[in-house]
Amino acid sequence: MKQSQTNIFEDKTQIMNPNGSSSIVLVCEHATHFIPDVYNNLGLSSNNLKSHVAWDPGAAAVAQELSRVMDAVLVQGVVSRLLYDCNRPPSSPDAIPKRSEIIDIPGNHNLSAFEKEERVQKYYKPFCTALSAVIAKIKIPILVTIHSFTPVYFGKPRDTEIGILYDSDIRLADAMLKTATNHSNGVIQSNEPYGPEHGVTHTLVEHAISNGHLNVMLEIRNDIIATHDQQNAMAKLIAGWLIDACSQINVKGNIQCLA
Ligand SMILES: [Zn+2]
Repeated sequence: MKQSQTNIFEDKTQIMNPNGSSSIVLVCEHATHFIPDVYNNLGLSSNNLKSHVAWDPGAAAVAQELSRVMDAVLVQGVVSRLLYDCNRPPSSPDAIPKRSEIIDIPGNHNLSAFEKEERVQKYYKPFCTALSAVIAKIKIPILVTIHSFTPVYFGKPRDTEIGILYDSDIRLADAMLKTATNHSNGVIQSNEPYGPEHGVTHTLVEHAISNGHLNVMLEIRNDIIATHDQQNAMAKLIAGWLIDACSQINVKGNIQCLA
């Protein structure tokens, strides 16, 4: 009999640097492409399972380095977004997508209400509970979510290198955009390649905007964070932007870069 694949964080949310001293709370919902054996890889090929449809390549590595250099707590998803996308509410069809870009996801078709609810209870609820608890412990929490996107989407190359995304609260994103565009030659754009109209700001709305906390979502093109060196350099770049942006808007709280 085949040994069951193990992931010590299965059914839990992975929290790194839980006692970090920073006011920044980092989130990486799409950190992994892990799918427990019981789901039979949702009927996908191993190539598709490792592609950007299943996770955000490079995003967790950037978030982990940011967590280290800023001494900030990091909350990561523990399963592929194809199993349950923790950046979507249970009411969204994208929470358990039947299709992603050009790839059909057989294991997400014809699910019963019970099967859907089981995934909500197993993956989404623990993620929300953990993130809420982390945020509640911090005096002036600042939510920063880290994502990556594919350089080619539906066959079309994308120019954007880094997207700085916001929903109804533009304060931190606006300050970061000023800093980023003043200090970088990269293609940095607001609400690109996605925006609130695509449903991507769910975590921001649910965990920051609803409580008045500063927040921003970063989308990094995955080909510019493909190597360890690129990931570390990106983390330092973002840490610098966050420090500068927070000082522009006079944020009280502990925001530092130890690198
Ligand atoms: Zn993502």
